[in-house]
Amino acid sequence: AKKELSIYKNCVTRTKDGRHVELGGNIGLPQDVNSVFEYGAEGIGLFRTEFLFMDTPHLPSEEVQFDAYRSVVEKMGSKPVIIRTLDIGGDKNIPYLDLPKEENPFLGYRAIRICFDRIDIFKSQLRAILRASAYGNARIMYPMIASVEEVIQANAILSEVKSDLLENDIPFNSKIEVGVMIEIPSAAITADLIIKEVDFFSIGTNDLTQYTLAADRMNDKVRYIYNSFHPSLLRLIKNVIDTSHSHGKFTGMCGEFAGNPLAAIMLLGMGLDEFSMSPSSIPKIRQIINSVSYSDAQKICDEVMELSSPNEIEAHLKERLSEIL
Ligand code: PEP
Ligand code: MG
Repeated sequence: AKKELSIYKNCVTRTKDGRHVELGGNIGLPQDVNSVFEYGAEGIGLFRTEFLFMDTPHLPSEEVQFDAYRSVVEKMGSKPVIIRTLDIGGDKNIPYLDLPKEENPFLGYRAIRICFDRIDIFKSQLRAILRASAYGNARIMYPMIASVEEVIQANAILSEVKSDLLENDIPFNSKIEVGVMIEIPSAAITADLIIKEVDFFSIGTNDLTQYTLAADRMNDKVRYIYNSFHPSLLRLIKNVIDTSHSHGKFTGMCGEFAGNPLAAIMLLGMGLDEFSMSPSSIPKIRQIINSVSYSDAQKICDEVMELSSPNEIEAHLKERLSEIL
């Protein structure tokens, strides 16, 4: 079976009736690009930049960040690289930032919330990403967005950084695409408001699942509740995809769910445009997508949306998958 899968490392992702979706890789450090190539990713759907900040004893300078982002986008050529701005807090600490100890770190001072407080850090990262955008297909993505005002605020800061680069004749892609992670239920519910301010969405099911079900993603005691097949999650995901499409924009997914073979046909049927995952998961997901038609996937998705529990949904998808593979 392993040998069989390897043929899916280097072919296009296309359903039997010709729908193309993009399979991307998630990376944390520039050297991870090697596995993105090894497994035939069509882009990078999530570059988790916090590792650049965690592996040093002090803030990485704009220059250090620029070198890292540039090396990735250059290696990827015309393929898209979605660079996520800093997502620390929660389970990820950075000693030199002296972050406060909190009762509920996952509900606290995290990601974009820190960036609005530390505009210096945010601006230097945005400058580095913009400068790298002159060398490849870089995109910007904000994490942990809870409401549209935050997107407007982040975009206003981005505009300031762009103006500054323009004034100083520093090259960047002025049409760089900007998106947000949909990983907080309030954002998934108000996708219609947020989509007007961005070019794309990427659904972060790891956080979206924990926040929707109020079950900590790190806590084994509530592991049985934490399940992305829950009907609430499927409804939120579908709403986000439909909303972006009704505005002519695209939605990807970069949480673990995007690399789950059992979820693949259903997500395809919902119209998901891009699946980004740990690179080694790509061949399997490509095999599944290339073995089904989009119209059948849509039917399977409709069936699943009628079911009422994660167990039923998983059992149903298991059966459908076994008919296809
Ligand atoms: C997510 O929340 O699904 C996600 C991709 O972000 P992270 O796992 O880095 O929080
Ligand atoms: Mg997240």
